[in-house]
Parts: sequence; structure tokens; C-alpha cells
Amino acid sequence: SAIVQLRSVTKTYTNGYDALLDVNLEVKQKEFLFITGPSGSGKSTLLKLLYGQELPTQGEVIVDDYNVAALRGDRLSLLRRRIGIVFQDYKLIPQRTVAENVMFVLQAQGYTRKEIHRRLEPTLKLVGLLSKADCFPDQLSGGEQQRVSIARAIVGTPPLLLADEPTGNLDPDNSWQVMQILQKLNAFGATVIVTTHDEQLVRRCNHPVVQVRDGQLYRK
Ligand code: ADP
Ligand code: ADP
Repeated sequence: SAIVQLRSVTKTYTNGYDALLDVNLEVKQKEFLFITGPSGSGKSTLLKLLYGQELPTQGEVIVDDYNVAALRGDRLSLLRRRIGIVFQDYKLIPQRTVAENVMFVLQAQGYTRKEIHRRLEPTLKLVGLLSKADCFPDQLSGGEQQRVSIARAIVGTPPLLLADEPTGNLDPDNSWQVMQILQKLNAFGATVIVTTHDEQLVRRCNHPVVQVRDGQLYRK
């Protein structure tokens, strides 16, 4: 069944620009989907609609059976706990170590100390950063920082993982490493949606692709 549905969604920014114009999209549970398209085509906008950072001007955005636009406050927070988000620029807290950056999410959600520690080690191991747990972000390479941000996104085991140009600042080797981690998480059962303008990366992976162009979505 579908974990994400866009129904006749239009997103018009306040300056009158239509980023998305009457689009439909269905993403099934456990799917791995690429969203491609040129810079400025609306890829980030699409993801922002899914985690409630932007509201649709028209139409419905359904995620995990919630109508995202109708959620406020606590109920939006509850949905966001079920969504892991990875950004191009990592968004790590510089004054906190790798372990602290990852644990912070669970602390904010009221997990017990015991549960936090139970989750931390396997998560860092999965992204290959167990040995860097006590490093600060500025002691890590870009690829490592992005893997910390993936650890932070998945430590609460969300069923939906959104990655907005996760490899945008990385060289090909690090990009491929990040993609392999995202594919592993997908194999473990997460639905993964990745935006990218890296056509080569998309071609290397055998996943469905939706292209955003002129406000429309095209299945490729
Ligand atoms: P992409 O992620 O594909 O680069 P975005 O979704 O960030 O594209 O942006 C799509 C279009 O919407 C761009 O033309 C961008 O300038 C415009 N846009 C994005 N955010 C805003 C905003 N807050 N206000 C006005 N226009 C915006
Ligand atoms: P803002 O201007 O709102 O700070 P940012 O681009 O800095 O925008 O951050 C994007 C939004 O994504 C923030 O509002 C933040 O609350 C939200 N966000 C960041 N990480 C997560 C997450 N793991 N789960 C849900 N929402 C998140």
C-alpha cells in the first residue's frame, strides 16, 4: 500500500511561482524512489510538502495515512518522528560530538537513556562511524558528516526516509558510499525517497525515477 500520496497538488509560492502544478504521485511502502530534475525544478519543494515544511496551495498530501496539511503542533511532531530527513548540507550541531548529534534526536523525543544507548552503537556501525563517535563534526570529512546525518535520521527507525540532494556536496566515491547506505536501509524495509540531479548516480542504481520539470512529474 502507499505510504506517500500527492493528490492534485499545486504549490504556488507567494511570489506567484508554481513549483508544482496539479501533480499526482504515489509511493508504495518499501519503495526506493529517485526524484530528479534540474536545479530549481521543485524537488526540494516536493520533499518539504511531505514533512510539512511547506503547505500545498491546493490538493492533498498524505503521508503514512496522515493528511500533512491538516496537522498542527503535536500531531505534526508525531508524523515527523516517522520521517527521517537527510539534507545536502548535513545540518549537524558543531559543538556536539557524533554520538551526541545522533542521540540528541532520541533525547528530544523522550527515549530512556538505556534505549538511547541500545540504539546508538548499531546505528553508528551501520554508517561505518563507530570509531568516530567522540569526534566533532569539523574533525570529519564531508562524506563522514553526511553519514552522521544519516545516522541521526535513522536512529529512531522511521519507516520513511527523505534525502534532499544527499550527495550534492560529495565526490563520486563518497556519493556512492552514501547511496549504498540508503539502499541498505531500503533493504531493511524503509521507504526511501532521494532527490538528486546526478544522472550518473541514478543510472548506477536500478530504482524507479520521477522527473520534475515545468511543475509536472514524469515517471521515467
Ligand atoms: P530544486 O530542489 O529542484 O532545486 P526547489 O523546490 O528548491 O527546487 O525550488 C523550486 C522553485 O521554487 C525554484 O524556482 C525556487 O526559486 C522556487 N522557490 C523555492 N522556495 C521558494 C520560496 N520560499 N519562495 C518563492 N519561491 C521559492
Ligand atoms: P528553518 O528555516 O525552518 O529552520 P531549515 O532548512 O533550517 O529551515 O530546516 C528545515 C526544517 O526541517 C526545519 O524546520 C526542521 O524543523 C525540519 N527538520 C529538520 N530535521 C528534521 C527531522 N529529522 N525530522 C523532521 N523535521 C526535521
